[in-house]
Amino acid sequence: MTRNIIAVDLDSCIGLRTYYNKVLTVGPSGTYPDLEMYYLPVSCQHCDNPECVSVCPTGASYKREDGIVLVDHSKCIGCQYCVMACPYGVRTYDESRDKGVIEKCTMCAHLIDKGEKPACVKHCPGQARLFGDADDPESDVSKMIARKSTHKLTDVGNHPGVTYGLDKFSWKGDE
Ligand code: SF4
Ligand code: SF4
Repeated sequence: MTRNIIAVDLDSCIGLRTYYNKVLTVGPSGTYPDLEMYYLPVSCQHCDNPECVSVCPTGASYKREDGIVLVDHSKCIGCQYCVMACPYGVRTYDESRDKGVIEKCTMCAHLIDKGEKPACVKHCPGQARLFGDADDPESDVSKMIARKSTHKLTDVGNHPGVTYGLDKFSWKGDE
């Protein structure tokens, strides 16, 4: 079975910000001139055990078989339980529509379904973002995981899917 994930090579990340992908600055830390600093992009982690799905009273938040967590706007009542349940604050309430609904990173499921990569992966100028099947050893994400020190955000039982690679500096992320 496919298990789609995003992997981010933090050694290549130059910290560009997009709406559904907040970018934290970690550091600087250390003593001059031995300083460390890196960027940590945080978007939906497409968790293996997503709390946003567990708390949703209507079934609007759901996880596909390939691992992507999505929101069905036709079922969303805007209660924002999922916003409170997400440990990483990556869900946004959008009241600009007829009714308030939740928005977040969709991993560009509409592009993946056409055999393409997510837009952030295609257009990342640092080529820091990778996409693929974590269970396929030949995928771009598996190859990065095999060659780098890898990390995840703090796991509070939701099992985040995004994998971060960092070799240059010591991980001071949310682990
Ligand atoms: Fe849900 Fe938050 Fe996990 Fe995304 S990161 S799947 S919104 S709990
Ligand atoms: Fe579900 Fe929408 Fe409520 Fe979130 S805001 S918990 S997606 S119904």
